[in-house]
Amino acid sequence: MNYRSFIKRDYKLRESADKTFVKLLNRRSIVIASLSLLIGTVVLFSIESEPVTANVPGQLAEKSSSATLVSQSLTLPAHIETEAEAEKVSFKAPPIVTTAAVARPTSNQKGKRIKVRKGDTLAAIFSRNNLSSRDVYNIIALGKGTKGLKRLRPGQHIRLSFNEQGKFSGLVHEIDRFNSLQVSYKNQKYAAKHITRKPEIRLAYASGKITNSLFLDAQRAGMAQSLIMELAAIFGWDIDFALDIRQGDSFNLVYEEQFLDGEKIRHGNILAAEFVNRGRTFRAVRYTAKNKRADYYTPNGHNMRKAFLRSPVDFRRISSRFGKRKHPTLKRTKLHTGVDYAANRGTPIRATGDGKIIHRGRKGGYGKTIIIRHGNKYSTLYAHMSSYNRKARGRVKQGQIIGYVGTTGRSTGPHLHYEFRVHGTHRNPLTVKLPSAASIDKRYKKDFFDKTRGLLAQLDGLRRTNIALAE
Ligand SMILES: [Zn+2]
Repeated sequence: MNYRSFIKRDYKLRESADKTFVKLLNRRSIVIASLSLLIGTVVLFSIESEPVTANVPGQLAEKSSSATLVSQSLTLPAHIETEAEAEKVSFKAPPIVTTAAVARPTSNQKGKRIKVRKGDTLAAIFSRNNLSSRDVYNIIALGKGTKGLKRLRPGQHIRLSFNEQGKFSGLVHEIDRFNSLQVSYKNQKYAAKHITRKPEIRLAYASGKITNSLFLDAQRAGMAQSLIMELAAIFGWDIDFALDIRQGDSFNLVYEEQFLDGEKIRHGNILAAEFVNRGRTFRAVRYTAKNKRADYYTPNGHNMRKAFLRSPVDFRRISSRFGKRKHPTLKRTKLHTGVDYAANRGTPIRATGDGKIIHRGRKGGYGKTIIIRHGNKYSTLYAHMSSYNRKARGRVKQGQIIGYVGTTGRSTGPHLHYEFRVHGTHRNPLTVKLPSAASIDKRYKKDFFDKTRGLLAQLDGLRRTNIALAE
């Protein structure tokens, strides 16, 4: 076997798992289809019923992205944070919306829609349309409300409207899909009004199985990059998506999608998600406690956030390095008690927890090294850096970039050597139990269970459907 070494892992404990994995990879013929599933309303909203296979298109291995993502046409108020609304999501069977729920702004019949050109100003547009510069002056004179009209961006639109006599009667500046500025001219008076359209929120579901990397497989499942990153962020405290991910891992999620005029604009929040990593299932639900920001919790109400990030490097930077196939192989050196992340020189390294830099400089075979102390109990070490972030001095925040991957010291190629110590003793950063952020306050426990029950049931439904599909 001649695998290129992807990760030089030093942790003894993980040997058997790694070997198995290499063997697994050997059987390259294993094609694990990214689970293409179409989940109908039936499965998700009557969880008790049998998994519905009739909804499933014949081609299981179909790589079509659309098959994996299912938009549920569920009309919701825009802000899911509100508890009462979240409940609606979970339990009410959605009406199928076939037509745009929000009327498209009709272009004024006695009007004109003008596309803003590069370098355009309102004055130029008015002049091109034989309108008075006095109007421009008066509109801008409205002050703060019409400030945006001084900075028109190419591609935006201005709708001009005229009265029966053909005189200027107002305009609409279409700022973006959601925002517009309406200026009216009536009875010799100008008035400006900012209009924000609220998107229609629908629930969507995604599922996938890892054949390669979270990033590639989730993209194949049709998930937007930002959605993948949010999924990774939710579980990033428990799973190291650079090193810990395995073929056969899987994920399910329930999330929001925002629609305008029946057209999908962007995804919203992930409401519930599960990730099965090496046989261990992690689940998270979104919940907003009173007067608190929304956060993700385990089904028992423990905060998903921990005092430490699992990985000091962005997993995308790791997986992108060796193209499609990645083979974490075990290479043990003497006593080497850390984890190595192979990444390109210059890849940012993040502090995994809040703390104080207590060492910054060369340190023997470690090369350029930073050590951060996190309270009295924990410390982390980052070695072989190419350079430090000059701004990271003294106290650093979790996630703050402290330096960049390099190959200084005793090192065979660009990589980050990362150590995690508890009371001075080396611990495996991939498996060490990490302290959590605050759990759900006792007072809100009941509320939490009430609000999240439905979301968890949906995850169950997704999982059951996936199993049915795989059989
Ligand atoms: Zn190392």
